[in-house]
Amino acid sequence: MRGIRRFFLFLVTSLLVVFGPAAAENTAEPTIPSRLAPSFIEFFDTLALTADFGPFNRRPAWVRKWNGPVTITLSEPAEKLRDDIERLTRRVSRWTGLPFSVATPGTRPIADGSNVINIRLIPQADTGAAFASGDIVCQTETHGMGGALHTGYMVISERYIDCLTHEFMHVLGFDSHWRPTGRTNIRSVLALRDTEMRTSDFSSWDILAIRLLYNQRIHAGMPRGRSLVIANEVIRRGPQRAALPSASGFRQTNW
Ligand SMILES: [Zn+2]
Repeated sequence: MRGIRRFFLFLVTSLLVVFGPAAAENTAEPTIPSRLAPSFIEFFDTLALTADFGPFNRRPAWVRKWNGPVTITLSEPAEKLRDDIERLTRRVSRWTGLPFSVATPGTRPIADGSNVINIRLIPQADTGAAFASGDIVCQTETHGMGGALHTGYMVISERYIDCLTHEFMHVLGFDSHWRPTGRTNIRSVLALRDTEMRTSDFSSWDILAIRLLYNQRIHAGMPRGRSLVIANEVIRRGPQRAALPSASGFRQTNW
């Protein structure tokens, strides 16, 4: 059993979420063909609103999201990821309608900041000390009040910089992982590493989920039930804008 558990933990990057008692904002209303809607809602619900099975998550079933412009600080070693992170922030800014920007080199990490994400890159040798388990490869922790995120901490280990998109989706408010048990076409950066469902870049489903979470009708701290009612309304209305439908689900698009 222990061997299995260690293997399992190795596959999972970890996530810590800390919360106290609410606020909100934004744009763009994604929609999806009605035959795919139930699958997508299940996907959205799992990632954004349902408790994960990991040992670290203790959070209420409510919406977690950023409300204001978000500043990202990089540790000195993480500067080598600057180009990748700046590209990611431009895409995420478009999907969320919120400006995400990377602070100038030398900006110190801000603990308990207001709309700040601190990113560290650590050598592989230091991961044992940095993570709760030696088998975890990357980690994201978010703190917020009433569902409104105010500080994020992301730790990427040097050997696993491909964690970046996965951790970015976590830090936007998607705390859980995608572990489908039946047949599904839905792929995600939040599927477990080395599984068929895992994508290295955001899938169209991921992009749609991000745009939906940041829809202006869905507010930080909104309970799961109410959020799902609105999510259903939003995705059933209007033309498909977030991604193009194809026979197998969504065609991958360049964003
Ligand atoms: Zn993860």
